[in-house]
Amino acid sequence: MGAFRQPARLPILDIWVDPVNRDEAIERVRGFLRNGNRPHSVFASNPEKQFTVPRDPELYECYRRADLLLPDGIGMVKAARLLYGADLSRVPGSEFIFDLCKVAQEEEKGVFVYGAKEEVNAGSCEVLVERFPGLKIVGRANGYVKDEDMPELIERINESGAAVLFLALGSPIQEKWFAEHKDKLISVRVVQAVGGTLDTIGGNVKRAPEFWRRHNLEWLYRLLSEPGRISRQWVLPIFALLVAVAWLKKKVGMDGNRLD
Ligand code: UDP
Repeated sequence: MGAFRQPARLPILDIWVDPVNRDEAIERVRGFLRNGNRPHSVFASNPEKQFTVPRDPELYECYRRADLLLPDGIGMVKAARLLYGADLSRVPGSEFIFDLCKVAQEEEKGVFVYGAKEEVNAGSCEVLVERFPGLKIVGRANGYVKDEDMPELIERINESGAAVLFLALGSPIQEKWFAEHKDKLISVRVVQAVGGTLDTIGGNVKRAPEFWRRHNLEWLYRLLSEPGRISRQWVLPIFALLVAVAWLKKKVGMDGNRLD
């Protein structure tokens, strides 16, 4: 195994993002699967997280220790460009789940899908196998396992021999689940926290059509189709403003080392 240098993780305001494009993210998880000897966490980094992660010390620690922080939102990509001139591309967690399935299929590794409602979970597994014929989904469980049944679930994951685990419990439950249980996972090498993605794969929630995605307007489509999300989308203009302030401070040499 030749040693190679990974580009450093970029601090964006109070969280971080890994400077990867989609192919590089895929190669990283392939490396985790081939060479890893422990579960590696893959979490999404986006403007929304900027406002939840730093406020929750446990979640902050999960992010700080993450093995791969995907540039999930266009906001992170633009901020990285403005603050560091970094040329990364958006790698949405909701699409990366498919990339990871493809890698698992190619590497012949088992996948365990944990999270979401029973029918959504079951439907998602069917969709994934249909899309990646031969993909070994070696186990699944809905996301409403009681605390007292957790040891049994961990045993099931271990007995399945899964190397990839998708956690679809929503944030911050999924990240905290990883922190609490990672040391008990025997065969798992990659854990992607996918939030509500299974609802778009095996449920009734529609993703934005291609046009909106191509123009980086998925956030606007979701806002227009689910106005209730306004309470979550207010973060975008504030994030942009904070990034602009950070950029200005950098420009005039006022930035402290809060970002390191
Ligand atoms: N969920 C779950 N167990 C729980 C709470 C939530 O499996 O105890 C699932 C829920 O069914 C949904 C997802 O977690 O599929 C949460 O989706 P949301 O879009 O809120 O998460 P986000 O992507 O914002 O993290």
